[in-house]
Amino acid sequence: MIKVVKFGGSSLASSEQFKKVANIIKAEDSRRYIVPSAPGKRFSDDIKVTDMLYECYSLAAKGKDYKASLENIKKRYYEIINELGMDLSLENEFKIMEACFVGRAGRDYAASRGEYLNGIVLANYLGYEFIDAAEVIFFDDNGNFDDERTNEVLSERLSDIEKAVIPGFYGAMPNDTIKTFSRGGSDVTGSIVAKAVKADVYENWTDVSGFLIADPRIIDNPKVITTITYKELRELAYMGATVLHEDAIFPVRKEGIPINIRNTNAPEDMGTMIVESTSMKPEFTITGIAGKKGFTAVNIEKDMMNSELGFCRKVLEEFEKYGISIEHMPSGIDTMSVLVHQEEFGQKEQEILAGIHRNAHPDTIDIESDIALIAIVGRGMRAQRGTAGRIFSALAHAHVNVKMIDQGSSELNIIVGVTEEDFAKAIKAIYDIFVTVKL
Ligand code: ASP
Repeated sequence: MIKVVKFGGSSLASSEQFKKVANIIKAEDSRRYIVPSAPGKRFSDDIKVTDMLYECYSLAAKGKDYKASLENIKKRYYEIINELGMDLSLENEFKIMEACFVGRAGRDYAASRGEYLNGIVLANYLGYEFIDAAEVIFFDDNGNFDDERTNEVLSERLSDIEKAVIPGFYGAMPNDTIKTFSRGGSDVTGSIVAKAVKADVYENWTDVSGFLIADPRIIDNPKVITTITYKELRELAYMGATVLHEDAIFPVRKEGIPINIRNTNAPEDMGTMIVESTSMKPEFTITGIAGKKGFTAVNIEKDMMNSELGFCRKVLEEFEKYGISIEHMPSGIDTMSVLVHQEEFGQKEQEILAGIHRNAHPDTIDIESDIALIAIVGRGMRAQRGTAGRIFSALAHAHVNVKMIDQGSSELNIIVGVTEEDFAKAIKAIYDIFVTVKL
């Protein structure tokens, strides 16, 4: 059994957290390849080392005084090293880093040092081999991740190494400069390593006990999802529920490697298993609920719209022309609504409306803003009678007016549009009916 184990920034923010991490790793011999993030926040208004590095670099690159900023970064690492009683000096590393900052080695290089240095500390603490990600993770000339080259080099390199620490978040460009993934990208590195070593499981350790059924800012103590499929996860993540970097699922998904989200502060919790498909019946009819505010509905009416060939195309062309992507498009006989992101649309609004009038000649166009979309997602809804009925009766009881309904053909999700004012109330009503009452 091989496990690739990734620890997020809060799991490695202090010496105390390092001790928890080491205990977790040592508890199972299969936890062989470790991917650390940079030290994150120790308390809620603390600053992540990655952000400190961006700040320090921007001072150095502008020729401003960066010394105090650099000292604060050093302090974060030495606090961990000293409190763990380690005999490790990073002076040489910091000297090289400082020279590269002054020589403007780039923001990506700067940010990557967070993981690089933390990787060195963790490898020393565990007695594992350290492998610089720049030697095994590659990007192509266009800055895209080079899957083929990485997989070849990484699997070859790890084939005869029993246990190693590979820092997350960055890799090398063909010209040897450093490039990072987008923020939170250590999740992606973990997934890439899991693929390369053909891991049985990719464990992703964070500070929550898994993926929650609903947003804890709306629902008190929501239950944890025990098993979720990649498809369900995509639907929920798109609607704003995040624990994992969006790109982290691709390398492992193709290989059939499950991801297990775990909590460093509660290692006894089994967390959430993310799998390709499963025969495991979900505990509730729905797997999760997620939602987003900030949508606008453009409601278009025209008599006999349905029999006019090309009407929808003419309308949609106007959105495309101005680079506005469309979220949903419910329609009636003489009406169609186009749901778009409010902020994006607001900037081009008048041009688009004029364009629709000019090209499609509708009778009226009416705009409704401040709409929230809520996705109710679950493989358990498929072939299950009455799910939609339960959702709408729960919303009616909660006095929530439903503005739009959309059920995907996969029957994996139902999306409802409500006013932003009703957003939290609607999510509570849906959560209660399926999870609290368990109808
Ligand atoms: N340290 C990086 C960030 O803060 C990458 C990561 O933690 O995954 O975004």
